[in-house]
Amino acid sequence: MNLQADVCIVGGGPAGTLLGHLLAKNGVSTIIIERSAGVNRQFRGEHINAETEAILKEHQLFKRIEELGILKMKKVEYFSGRKIVKSITPGNHEDHVGIHVPQGHLLTAIIEESEENKHFQLLFNTTVKELIQDDQGYYTGVKAIQNGEEILISSKVTVGADGRYSTVRKLAKIPTVEMTHGYDVLWAKIPAPAGWEPTTRMVLVNGHQLALFSQTGGLIQIGWNIAEGSFPTLRKESLQPFLDPLIESFPELEESIKEHLQSWNNFVCLKVQSSRCETWVEDGLILIGDAAHTMTPTGAIGINCGMKDAHILAPILTKAIEEKDISAGQLKIFEMNRKNEIKTQQIMQVLQETTFSEKFA
Ligand SMILES: Cc1cc2nc3c(=O)[nH]c(=O)nc-3n(C[C@H](O)[C@H](O)[C@H](O)COP(=O)(O)OP(=O)(O)OC[C@H]3O[C@@H](n4cnc5c(N)ncnc54)[C@H](O)[C@@H]3O)c2cc1C
Repeated sequence: MNLQADVCIVGGGPAGTLLGHLLAKNGVSTIIIERSAGVNRQFRGEHINAETEAILKEHQLFKRIEELGILKMKKVEYFSGRKIVKSITPGNHEDHVGIHVPQGHLLTAIIEESEENKHFQLLFNTTVKELIQDDQGYYTGVKAIQNGEEILISSKVTVGADGRYSTVRKLAKIPTVEMTHGYDVLWAKIPAPAGWEPTTRMVLVNGHQLALFSQTGGLIQIGWNIAEGSFPTLRKESLQPFLDPLIESFPELEESIKEHLQSWNNFVCLKVQSSRCETWVEDGLILIGDAAHTMTPTGAIGINCGMKDAHILAPILTKAIEEKDISAGQLKIFEMNRKNEIKTQQIMQVLQETTFSEKFA
């Protein structure tokens, strides 16, 4: 099968899907290819901040997301044992300190709002295999596999929005600097007990952060920071001593923990790393979101950074296509617009990680 579009976006996560929606709205024909079969992803960034909320409102997407289900966080609380030692409440004119939005709801809303647009096409079960270049080195599309069949997509611009392990980045041989942060995160989900307030709760356990995120659908996502690379050893030990500090701080969760965290298999380990690409653009090629800059889970900003990339890139890319200049020099405007902010946010993440224990002093 041969397809054609102005832009081919590899990766239908938050960054790629929002970009596809905005480009199509601008009349730029766009094909998104996504290797998953649908919109549901397990354990991803699902907390959006006030800035992303404003972006989604600006593009008339927020209402539909809200209808599908969101949960506004009332506070962030820091616990020492059972005692609250610090509490962050919403600023003036705000009614939350973050919003939980399941990625399934976010992606569904954006896709639904794009469905009527003839310039928007999303192909699930489709995995990029090869980038195509012309004689001058411009990227002019991709080869992908869809349900076992090879398809060819010709495009003026290819966007790699395919996440932290970006295939597009690797195929384009774009160097990336990866940093580890001395910890990994174990994620687990349990049902919240009746009356559990939608608040983000933080506890310091043996020098490590333990975070509880209230979620839509009456769930709590728990994230334990553990020493980097320690999960294989940890999972050989008994689980109960690991759970004890959590129960000690939140005895009201004991029943739910006993029922839903019975083995290490109930946990997913996220290898924590951050990265930054030396360049985000080549002739006819752009990287956005985690593909360009993986963030650590600190402050839950990864999804927000990726969606802001899409919001900033859409008008720049629309103009570049209209003006028929998709050279790296032209596309660099996007990189220049975003790179410093991302760098600052990554520095802030490290600062927050290294000073976390001071919040409990
Ligand atoms: C396991 C995990 C847990 C996370 N937890 C948190 C958290 O708690 N808080 C937080 O803020 N952030 C978290 N993140 C990061 C957050 O999810 C990302 O920052 C955010 O989703 C970035 O959006 P994105 O669109 O750039 O990339 P992604 O959401 O990663 O989307 C990339 C998309 O590309 C698709 N794809 C990949 N390769 C190919 C290919 N070859 N062909 C076609 N499609 C492809 C993927 O299926 C995916 O849908 C987590 C990430 C992971 C992987």
